[in-house]
Formats: sequence, C-alpha cells, structure tokens
Amino acid sequence: MKLSVWTYEGPPHVGAMRVATAMNGLHYVLHAPQGDTYADLLFTMIERRNHRPPVTYTTFQARDLGSDTAKLFRDACQAAYERFKPQAMIVGASCTAELIQDDPGGLGAALGLPIPVIPLELPSYQRKENFGADETFLQIVRTLAKPTDRSARVSCNLIGPTALGFRHRDDITEITALLNDMGVEVNVTAPYGATPADITRLGTAHFNALMYPETGESACRWMERTLGQPYTRTIPIGVGATKDFVEEVAALTGCEPRLDSDRLRLPWYSASVDSTYLTGKRVFIFGDGTHVATATRIAREEMGFEVVGIGCFNREMARPIRALAKDIGVEALISDDYLEVEARISNLAPELILGTQMERHIGKRLGIPCAVISAPVHVQDFPARYSPQMGVEGANVIFDTWVHPLVMGLEEHLLHMFREDPEFNDAAGPSHHAHGAKQVSDAPDPVGAQIIWLDEAERELRKVPFFVRGKARRNTEAFAEARGDSQISVETLYEAKAHYAR
Ligand code: SF4
Repeated sequence: MKLSVWTYEGPPHVGAMRVATAMNGLHYVLHAPQGDTYADLLFTMIERRNHRPPVTYTTFQARDLGSDTAKLFRDACQAAYERFKPQAMIVGASCTAELIQDDPGGLGAALGLPIPVIPLELPSYQRKENFGADETFLQIVRTLAKPTDRSARVSCNLIGPTALGFRHRDDITEITALLNDMGVEVNVTAPYGATPADITRLGTAHFNALMYPETGESACRWMERTLGQPYTRTIPIGVGATKDFVEEVAALTGCEPRLDSDRLRLPWYSASVDSTYLTGKRVFIFGDGTHVATATRIAREEMGFEVVGIGCFNREMARPIRALAKDIGVEALISDDYLEVEARISNLAPELILGTQMERHIGKRLGIPCAVISAPVHVQDFPARYSPQMGVEGANVIFDTWVHPLVMGLEEHLLHMFREDPEFNDAAGPSHHAHGAKQVSDAPDPVGAQIIWLDEAERELRKVPFFVRGKARRNTEAFAEARGDSQISVETLYEAKAHYAR
C-alpha cells in the first residue's frame, strides 16, 4: 500500500483509452466496475472533445460478482460491435476486473467477430498510463501493420501523438509543415486521427518520426525490426533540437536539411538586451522524461538559465534522465511522489519551476513562479489557440510561456530597491499576476529551525533580493550547521556567501 493524494499518471487502461479515443473506427471494450466511466470526463472536459470516447464499459456491480461476469463481457462486446460497427476492437480489463480474471482477450476472440479483436494485457498494479498507451499502440500495430512497398515519394509516419497528450494536436501540424518544407510527405499520423485501415498502411512510409517516446517507442522499435523502417531519435522541441531533427531526417532520407526559420523568434528574443535579466535564473525542471530532457536543453542553451535540478515521474525514462543530470552536474529525481518533488523544490529554492499541473500547485504553495511543460495538465493547457511545443513556432510559444511567470527586469529592480514601497515591495509579487501573490518563500525551514538568526543578520538578509533570499537563508543555515554554530550573525552570513561563491 502507498498513500497517494496526487498521481502523475492514471492506470494503464486510461493509456489504452487515450489511444482508442485518438483513433477513428476503433472501439475499446473495457471490463470495469460501475463508476469507471469517470475517465470519459478526461476527454470530454479536459481535452474538450465533442464526442464520447469510443469505449464500452461492462460496468459490473457488486451483485454481478455472484453471477457470470464473463457473460457480461461477451454481451458488451457483441453489443458494441453491432452498434458501432468498428473496423477493429481492443479488449481489456481495468484494475478491478484484473482481479476477477475473466480473460477479456480470450472471450473477445471466441466471439468470432468479423473484425480483428486485439487483446490487451495491462498490468494495472505495476504499470501506469504511459505504458498503457505505448503497449496498446504496439499491439494495434503488431496486429494490423503489414510489410508493403514504399511510397514513390519520400514519406514518413508521425508516431506517438494520442488523445489527452500535452499539445499533441498542434505539434502534429507544426511537424507536418516542417517535413513538407523538406519535401517529406506524412504517410500516416498515428494513433492521433488514424483508422485501423490507416495502420495497415504504416509500412508504406520510408521512416518513422517518433514524436513522443513515452507513447510510441515500442511501436517504432517493432516497425524497425519487422518493417525495416528506421525512426528518428531527436525530439524537435527547442531551436537546437529542431535543427538536429531536420539534420537527422536529412541523413535518413537524403533530402536537403531545409528549415524555414523566418518565423523563429526565440533566439533573438532571448539574445535581446531585455532578456539579460534571465541569465542565470535558477530553474527546476520536472515532468515526463521527454519534455524534461528537451526543456533542459532549451533552458541551458537557449534561455541562459541555470538548471539546478531535473527529474521525471515516469520510471521508463529514468535512465536517460539520470544520465542527463549527471552530464549537467545536478541530481536527478525519479519519483512519482509529489511530496518528494515538493521537498526537492523547497530545498533547491529555484527562481522558476518548469513542470506539470502538480508543480503549479507546489509553486503556488512555495511562492515560486511556474510554467507548464508536460502532462498531467489541466483544461487551460488544451488551449483554443495554436500552441505547439515542437518546431519553430513551438520555440516561440515556449519563450513566451516560460518568461511570462517571471517578474520583468525593471520591476525586479524596483521591487528590490524600494522594498518598503506600498506598491513595489517584496510581498507584492509580479504586477501582471494576482495582487498580493506571495513571492519565493524565505521562511526558515525545519532543518534550520534550531539555528537562531540574530536581529542584525536577519536585517542584512532582507537586503538580498527576494527571489534568491530563500536560497541565501538555506545556504547560510547549512553553512552554520556544518560548522556547529547555533547562531547566525552578519559575519556568518558573509562567510557563508564567500564559501558558496568559491
Ligand atoms: S478499476 Fe481502477 S480505475 Fe477503476 S475505480 Fe477501480 S482502481 Fe480506479
């Protein structure tokens, strides 16, 4: 048992739903107790889809457990087939149904329906949503994709975008245009918008562009082995990564590495003098592995931030994130426990958090600005406007999104210089945010609680700009503690400063 208040990922059958809902002409029959239909709301409310997900639930109740739940499942499959006439069906169990072991796969196959019925084995107690999506898509591809002749023109498949994916809708548009500019056609985008018939045509493409490893890598590996299609390893989020992606596609296809960067504004915006105050801003980055890795590169190479910590919640990406953390000299946090994430953030006291919806809450509590870079996200991150993360326009969107929560340069000066001013004081926070928003917490933390700050030292600490004051307080306390001091004087404060500056 593990006490959980927030979870970064849902159970694996939600991943399967994300694939089914992304596709057309595919139906999912899910053996699940009454009440599991809550998952529909993810798609109809958060993603604001205008139709129900193509999912039939058996919705068994307590009284059904005494009778034949397997029959319930068979009937649900039959009824779903007759009502929706899908081109293919996936069948599986939710967490509760996994315990009653009705074998949905075997039952579905035994019905003898005239369409492919694809069984899903999703271990709900060991794995999570992203695994569910990746595995479901793999099984669909394995069942339906067949070796075929390659298209006459160079073409590729876009692999990995799903329903409920963070900015998947607009990333597809951006990457399709980018590939078209190079003379590469998109054969099939899957699972997003694909039908089972489209899946049978995957083999026509010359290569696969893997957009999201979390939800598409297994299928890409299978296609590489079975259909002989190579796949791209660079995720084109950020200016450098987009350029590398273009080079990678060029190397795979022999096309010109052409990138239309007329609309690309991030490099100039971040080099322009107004962005000087961004240099060295201390950021903490958390989310799914792919978005964290790409954000880390942008933060360091394109925005001039100092990355003080990174981490991801999906264990499937633990290895690359650990390696990246080692490369940049920070500690990786691989955890799906938001309390651990909160503790790490509080400890590092960054000036900006790049994270998920959870980190927004953490940031709010600690008074640290936050921008969202990864799922899980709330309804506001399925915006009406065009907002990709990938490619040229994605880089522009990222620049605006990350800078927005920060206090602007001039305001930062004013807040620091006139800290007694009724308007521009430390507690006022950025003028474009809610009035009276709390700024970076510099309250003593429990570790330092036994160490006493002398009045004069406390007054001196208040001269440190608010956004780094929390960090200065913690560093000084750690320094005093290491020396065995029980009091902090102005001298201790300056000795600590000199010590950390070394
Ligand atoms: S089956 Fe799983 S998802 Fe559904 S209510 Fe039970 S624990 Fe939650």
